[in-house]
Amino acid sequence: MPVSLKGIGVSNGICIGQAYVYYRELPEVLEYSISKYDTDREIKRFEDARDQAQAQLSDIKDTAASETPHDISQFIDTHLLMLDDPVLYEDTVSHIRARLCNAEWALQAQVERIVKVFDEMNDPYLKTRKDDILHVVERIQRCMMHEPEINHDSEKLDSHLKNRIVVADDLTPADTILMQHQKVAGFITEYGGPLSHTAILARNLGIPAILGVHNARNFIQANEQLILDGRTGIIQISPDKKELTRFKGLIRDERLRRKNLFDLKNKPAKTIDGLKINLHGNIDRPEDVRTLRQYDHTGVGLYRTEMLFIENNEIPDEQEQFETYRRTLRALKGHPLTIRTMDLGGDKELVNTTQHGPLVHNPALGLRSIRRCLKDPRIFIPQIKAILRAAGYGPASMMIPMITCVSELQQIFELVEQAKSELKAHRIRHDANISIGAMIEVPAAALAADHLASKLDFLSIGTNDLIQYTLAFDRIDDEVSYLYNPLHPAVLKLIQMTLNAGESRGIQVSMCGEMASDTKYTRLLLGMGLRCFSVQANSLLDIKHIINRSNIEQLRTQSEHILSLSDPDEIRLAVASLNQQFS
Ligand code: PEP
Ligand code: MG
Repeated sequence: MPVSLKGIGVSNGICIGQAYVYYRELPEVLEYSISKYDTDREIKRFEDARDQAQAQLSDIKDTAASETPHDISQFIDTHLLMLDDPVLYEDTVSHIRARLCNAEWALQAQVERIVKVFDEMNDPYLKTRKDDILHVVERIQRCMMHEPEINHDSEKLDSHLKNRIVVADDLTPADTILMQHQKVAGFITEYGGPLSHTAILARNLGIPAILGVHNARNFIQANEQLILDGRTGIIQISPDKKELTRFKGLIRDERLRRKNLFDLKNKPAKTIDGLKINLHGNIDRPEDVRTLRQYDHTGVGLYRTEMLFIENNEIPDEQEQFETYRRTLRALKGHPLTIRTMDLGGDKELVNTTQHGPLVHNPALGLRSIRRCLKDPRIFIPQIKAILRAAGYGPASMMIPMITCVSELQQIFELVEQAKSELKAHRIRHDANISIGAMIEVPAAALAADHLASKLDFLSIGTNDLIQYTLAFDRIDDEVSYLYNPLHPAVLKLIQMTLNAGESRGIQVSMCGEMASDTKYTRLLLGMGLRCFSVQANSLLDIKHIINRSNIEQLRTQSEHILSLSDPDEIRLAVASLNQQFS
């Protein structure tokens, strides 16, 4: 009888393929003693292996550069930086000298020490960093022991992985880049949640993936046929003929549907009753504008500038920021650019940031985002100036993340005024009338949206954080990712309050969190009054398709009814029925 498994579906696609069950065999590290005269030679062996590991990663990055999404090559950069970490290097070298042991063992001792510290912290964000360190150390050890990486044998993988569904415990960024080349059909992993590296990769590449399938490799045998349904998170093992035919039909329909969607490229997003909806894209760096333009020539409702900081692993100066923002504007050819000031902290951090003072147990509630900028205007002022300067060359606006109250706005406005006068004093071109908006990401901000709206030019709802903070679950902890529910009545109420505040104050309210990119919610949001969506590039045409087949008047009545419901399950069914009626 066919067996099914359930995990977290992180990308919408469906695929059928044979299982490639992937066991990462960890290198067996043995300890042996060396004489004190051999320590330099042993250290050199360690350094050579580290260089070799660095060269391997750079190679992977270079060969993948053109087609690989930015997020993924960024993970490789993170691993490159870890390879260069002075602490890892110095502690390993000291261990070799003090214990007179081989380099592999010295490295292993360091990693065990680091892992122990991470495990005791029990912090989900640091847990992902722990995996990064393990991947990096494993790579150096393989180099020292002259063990080839399985993935480097690309000939073998070519024939093994094409159209296969990879079943693994977890995948490193380098694994995923190589697998992208092998044209895998899909991924299943035993660990990881919706915001893990693999999830981001799968979404960016449009590869069907299901994560968090505990013990998947105990249930799935090599070469077994699988159906992977990324929409529901269900995997069918050795499906019967009827199911296979049904899913083959679904895949064919989906291909055709996506092809037809391109007829909507560069056409307006407009409802049946003639209301024009603003549909923009989210980007992380200037190069992403190219991807955006593959789907639509439109503006950007969310430019996550912290990626520039993370990519450099340091705070870029005003000039570098200005040039980057201006380049992005140029690429947009006259379409608007919403530049979000940096949102570092929480799940986005520079790699080598050393923690001072007491341990932060809840980084999502800590000195994150605008709080950090206001604490250190030496970081913030150059960014404000760079944005003001870029806005002198095209339609750019400034958006502040994680606002919680009006007093923060007051401080921001003062800093903006200071930045303007400095630019003016030096006769530097800038836009002194730039629009300033804020993201509604914290329940307090939604509840006070009316006060905030009275002082701002626009608002944008960041549902990823708004839902995390409203429902009190950590967005990067896969143990609690089941709590993510955009249809919780509390979330819907906060969204409605924000939309109402924008309407009564006459300012635009956009939505740029993942909820805006999910077609399940488009009609409900239109009915609630959302008129501006900022979405992932590959969702642009799907969302436009729904907008263009919607009638606002009809949706309004039904959405009102949905907002009056109290049970999340009842709401889910009502939204499903709304979608069915109009599809
Ligand atoms: C959000 O929180 O919804 C959002 C768009 O910001 P980020 O995902 O970058 O935190
Ligand atoms: Mg956010």
